[in-house]
Amino acid sequence: MIKALPPTALPAPMTPGTYLRKRRKAAGVSLELAAVAFLPCSDPPFPRPTWRAADGLGPVAIVRQIVSVLSKLESDQLHVDGIALMQLTGVVPFEREAYDRLVALHLGVDVAPPSICRECGCGVLTACMHAGYPCAWSETDPNLCTACERREAQAAADLPETENAS
Ligand SMILES: [Zn+2]
Ligand SMILES: [Zn+2]
Repeated sequence: MIKALPPTALPAPMTPGTYLRKRRKAAGVSLELAAVAFLPCSDPPFPRPTWRAADGLGPVAIVRQIVSVLSKLESDQLHVDGIALMQLTGVVPFEREAYDRLVALHLGVDVAPPSICRECGCGVLTACMHAGYPCAWSETDPNLCTACERREAQAAADLPETENAS
């Protein structure tokens, strides 16, 4: 049963837009590169009304349009579902269920928050890889992954990153 969040509930760990931005940054993908994935290079199998460009618009103008839409997604002025979200997962590794949960929480629906790292937004299906191994959950902070924990510890110690750190 879907209920509204009680007024005393803690806020969502992060907004859906913040989640998308963290995932895009973790992947090292610029907004422009993410937008290129939406370019209609061939006849799309599905209609894409969200991205439909006015007739005669060149690729650069379309990319600019899409960048503006992606910016709105990342600043929570817009939330999407369906095919647009699936296309985005092709360039930015994020988990649709985590995104949907954050959207629900953002809208005040009482669902369990997703299990994602508070720093980089990684989850079980989108673990960070370090020296060939996926990250795990920090033993001291269940909302932090070991990759970010190591990064924080290294930043605190002001040490350069080493390969054998684990
Ligand atoms: Zn992390
Ligand atoms: Zn991680």
